[in-house]
Amino acid sequence: MFSKTILSSALLALPFSILALPAPASPALFRRDAGPVLEQDSVNASLPNVTIYATGGTIASKGETSGQTVGYSVGLGVKDLVDAVPEILNISNIYGLQVANVGSQEVDYNILLALAHNITKDLAKEETTGVVVTHGTDNLEETAFFLDLVINSTKPVVVVGSMRPATALSADGPLNLYQAVTLAASEKAKNRGAMIVLNDRIGAAFYATKNSANSLDTFYATEQGQLGFFINQVPYFYYTPAAVPGKPHFSVGANTSLPQVDIIYTHEDNNPALVKASIESGSKGIVFAGSGAGSVDDAMLAVAEKQFNSTHTPMVVSHRTVDGFVPVEDVQDYMIPSGFLNPQKARVLLQLAVNAGYSNEKVREVFDALHP
Ligand code: GLU
Repeated sequence: MFSKTILSSALLALPFSILALPAPASPALFRRDAGPVLEQDSVNASLPNVTIYATGGTIASKGETSGQTVGYSVGLGVKDLVDAVPEILNISNIYGLQVANVGSQEVDYNILLALAHNITKDLAKEETTGVVVTHGTDNLEETAFFLDLVINSTKPVVVVGSMRPATALSADGPLNLYQAVTLAASEKAKNRGAMIVLNDRIGAAFYATKNSANSLDTFYATEQGQLGFFINQVPYFYYTPAAVPGKPHFSVGANTSLPQVDIIYTHEDNNPALVKASIESGSKGIVFAGSGAGSVDDAMLAVAEKQFNSTHTPMVVSHRTVDGFVPVEDVQDYMIPSGFLNPQKARVLLQLAVNAGYSNEKVREVFDALHP
């Protein structure tokens, strides 16, 4: 199992190409001002500049044997990841920042905000071509979706992971990382928001989701499709850049935390007390993973309505099916349908909207705008 190991050197810049940056005097976890530095006189000026932000996950994991593909542990740093694919130094100058080294089930707002703050500063630099985030696949889509909504740049943000640890036969991490850096360094990748790269596929962070818990070919959006594909390590896009209708942008530049927003997964014999428990434990918004197109049972709805009337906590209804759309006709008036967004993505959007101080009506407008 993964242990939560946040490196004491978190946010130390670890440049591999040629640079040796001085360590900060007292490295603090998730320092917001610790963006990587590019020094033009020590890089190959003919190459693009890509920064890798490492957070852990299977791509940074080791097993006991080459056959082990479960039960391994996180243990490789960002430099190890690059050392496994020296070829990427031929396509880009590479800079590295170890933001965390955890299984993605441990990713929290500290890590998300550290990524957002550093990437924002990094991409604002003219010399930065794009960024790559290495991440565990389990919660990868949430981080990718978050970055898609908070990074305001035309430059590529590519989130990558692997399904096999670095020690496995046919480990997929090195090639996935190679493709991610290739994409981040590519002109063709601009203006496409955050993207997810695994197993030759290029997916939109907005829609791609993890479909299989075990298979290498796990990230895609069944209904919305993929953005592109790698052929012989060259990214090909199916379309010119396309915009998600009504995609909002949120600023988290001043944030050191994000509000608690919970997901309640519905099922037969549901426990309605979870709604009150969520709010009483500090939740500022709730997403219901409804069955079908957002069904929630009457007993839970009764508690939810009572809680809404007394606390005005925004409540969004999503679908527990992998694909689907929650229509406004299927939810109570005080609830907000998530449309196409799955519960984990609806949760990120609700969290950012609450964080922005939006009224419930404004939150509803944000969700509605995604499916005009
Ligand atoms: N549970 C681990 C994580 O999300 C491993 C999953 C993976 O990276 O494939 O980091």
